[in-house]
Amino acid sequence: MKISRKEKNSYWMPYTDNRWFKKNPRLLESAEGMYYKTESGKKILDAVAGLWCVNAGHCRKKIVEAVQKQVKKMDYALSFQMGHNIAFKFAEKLVNILPKNLNHVFFTNSGSESVDTALKIALAYHQSKGNKTKTKFIGRSRGYHGSGFGGTSVGGIVANRTQYSNLLNGVIHLPHTHIPSKNSFSWGQPKFGKEKADALLDIINFHGKDNIAAVIVEPVAGSTGVLVPPVGYLESLRKICTEHDILLIFDEVITGFGRLGDSFASNRFKVFPDIITMAKGITNATVPMGAVGVTSEIYKSLYNKHKDTIELFHGYTYSGHPLACAAGIATLEVYEEEKLFKRSKSLEKYFGDRAHALSRLNMVQDIRNLGLVAGIELTERTKDPRTLGRDIFEECFENGLMVRFTGNTIALSPPLIVTKDQIDIIFNKLEKAIKRVF
Ligand code: PLP
Repeated sequence: MKISRKEKNSYWMPYTDNRWFKKNPRLLESAEGMYYKTESGKKILDAVAGLWCVNAGHCRKKIVEAVQKQVKKMDYALSFQMGHNIAFKFAEKLVNILPKNLNHVFFTNSGSESVDTALKIALAYHQSKGNKTKTKFIGRSRGYHGSGFGGTSVGGIVANRTQYSNLLNGVIHLPHTHIPSKNSFSWGQPKFGKEKADALLDIINFHGKDNIAAVIVEPVAGSTGVLVPPVGYLESLRKICTEHDILLIFDEVITGFGRLGDSFASNRFKVFPDIITMAKGITNATVPMGAVGVTSEIYKSLYNKHKDTIELFHGYTYSGHPLACAAGIATLEVYEEEKLFKRSKSLEKYFGDRAHALSRLNMVQDIRNLGLVAGIELTERTKDPRTLGRDIFEECFENGLMVRFTGNTIALSPPLIVTKDQIDIIFNKLEKAIKRVF
């Protein structure tokens, strides 16, 4: 069924060149496992797990049934001054897979809300300790932290910021860690660039540790085109933050839930932040949800400071929504039963090798990978350089493959149930598309 002109006009699509899309709409109709199906019945192999979120594959029976059961029993319940069982149950299950130092979970509805929540918790925490001047945030160039005002402010993707000149005050950005002259085609973590963390010391010297609340980074930057942290870099950030009483926030909206071969990137790298933001794979994307994990030090500081009143004036109508919690519990069970985090680790070598095999194409200028994530960066194209990424995306789609593009980088992050045969199909189709488009 075609969409009418009025329907097309009615829907303002997010992060989309609406003119381009509406000229030739690509409409998905159903999904199962590793595949989408289009309106015309064409199968599309999903090499990006939706938007880095459908980690267990699409329409998983257990998750769908859990949501169906819950919606019949209790569609909604408030979480302000009231509670329901499954929110507590889900929080505990999440704590069990979070790094050991994070014992408390605050529910949100998206990654963006998780980031804004984490920033507010950081401010409230310092205030509860009597450190009222610790209010500045440090983000990182090329970082992506969603589209709320907080996340956009600490984010470092230029195009996402330029239309909104008045963002949060008091945000400083670290340099990104991408050093192509030294690290191109690194398999896994690049060797060079640990010293990029020293820029944090310069910022602290300039602004004063007493004025800085928190540093927020993605352990592996996803949306900017997959930037893997250099060996020792995250460790260095951790050390500097601890030494200067600055909270370290890892935005694990993409890297959580098995993407890097462990429950969270923090567990993989063995670098433990004070706060973790999560979303996406938390419910396998079946129902929107996000969450923020914090240390007992943070939770207790607020809890003990405020007696007979609310300790954190923050929350959302849908915090801990029963359907999301039901989906989340079932999702964690699927991850556990199918050992999907381990599966992601065990496929890393095969996936990474297949990605790096593309280095034989002379239009590929860098390949970056870790876990089940890869970024393939292409050289500039003389003809229509601005549309290179999307031309490859369209070519892949026509050929039954869903990839993501950001600038000249093609990002891959398949569901963790992907098979080796499907990995072969992904890279064969992508190679074909790259050759055709150049
Ligand atoms: N943080 C990171 C690292 C992300 O990759 C994203 C989305 O891709 C977000 C935050 C925002 O999440 P959402 O789109 O659910 O608001």
